[in-house]
Amino acid sequence: MPKKTIKDIELRGKRVFTRVDFNVPRAQDGSISDDTKIRAALPTISYLLQHGAAVILASHLGRPKGQVQENLRLRAVAERLEQLLGQKVIYVRAVTGPEVTQAAQELQPGRVLLLENVRFHPGETKNDPELAKEYAALADLFVSDAFGTAHRAHASNVGIAAYLPAVAGFLMEKEINNLSRTLHNPQKPVVAIVGGSKTADKIGVLTNFLRLADTILLGGGMANTFLAAKSYQLGKSLVEKEQLQQAAAVMKAAEKHGVRLCLPVDVTVAFGLHEAAGACNVNVDAVPADMMVVDIGEETRKLFAAYIRGAGTVIWNGPLGVFETDAFARGTIAVAQAVAASAAFSIIGGGDVVAAVEKAGVANNISHLSTGGGATLEFWEGKELPGIAVIQDL
Ligand code: ADP
Ligand code: MG
Repeated sequence: MPKKTIKDIELRGKRVFTRVDFNVPRAQDGSISDDTKIRAALPTISYLLQHGAAVILASHLGRPKGQVQENLRLRAVAERLEQLLGQKVIYVRAVTGPEVTQAAQELQPGRVLLLENVRFHPGETKNDPELAKEYAALADLFVSDAFGTAHRAHASNVGIAAYLPAVAGFLMEKEINNLSRTLHNPQKPVVAIVGGSKTADKIGVLTNFLRLADTILLGGGMANTFLAAKSYQLGKSLVEKEQLQQAAAVMKAAEKHGVRLCLPVDVTVAFGLHEAAGACNVNVDAVPADMMVVDIGEETRKLFAAYIRGAGTVIWNGPLGVFETDAFARGTIAVAQAVAASAAFSIIGGGDVVAAVEKAGVANNISHLSTGGGATLEFWEGKELPGIAVIQDL
């Protein structure tokens, strides 16, 4: 269902409560180590300002669990935003209260106000209606641009929409459009790639991909569980024993749906997850008892690349090896290069796989890198996300 965006509504003279995702990665000393998320919100903020709105920004940072945590204040974010926007950002050290109300009332069109970390307030993650009303009282309009939290029903991204008209910002619009394209009438053949470590978290996605994909390529820790379900001996590899039955059921369902489910034919094995010494390439039926699978093997990379070359659409979640160790990032990098080289419409989603693809230096040749982790997964599971549901339909 197409959603209303900030292009579909009068903004001039309005106070706009804008929920953004400024949950940036931070270094040990608390400084911002990567400002991608702040940059990603700029098109929406700039558009609102240029069209005469007064912009009230709200975001969470980390997991303060309803309490003020000094190291999770948004001051550094306000400063970085100020540099990027090239204009003053008024920052209040509170989520609600008289100081916030006054700052919002005094805010002129074309000016920016940033509230304190919304998760300092215990009502935020409880979606407390009283808090949602307080947010709404600050503004005339609600703009939803925090796709990364869209799978959560919190006061600043869902509750507030009960009291104000809600429209999407540009980041939210881009995510919805691109992700929808993979779910509805995708260009065939559809190749889905699933890796990562937590089978339990991904069974829902895999099950939905069975209906969408022509081919599913499995790697990462996930593939170990599937190989184990086929009785391969995997030595000391990560295998989620409680997921073996689920894995077997997915393989059976793939057969029933006529979906080609490809497991690795060979793997990189090592003596530890981060122990490169002694690592080597073996067939999946020859994993030594004292070693573990840490990456897809060389033949598997070629096999996967061949399917990707012929794809119309590629959807990918989860790295195919322990990419944090350079020697075990090769499978993920080879597949990332294949996706980048293909003419397919390609979407990659998931915190770790996106980091791996950026590390591979091919991010520019991917059609869309999703900014959501959990939100992207739930979208791919076919669930309606509460943070999207509250946005007005066009
Ligand atoms: P994403 O964030 O992309 O959704 P996940 O969080 O599911 O991905 O999984 C990422 C983790 O999976 C990484 O920390 C990576 O080291 C781990 N992983 C990948 N392959 C293996 C493997 N063969 N054995 C153990 N862990 C693995
Ligand atoms: Mg992850």
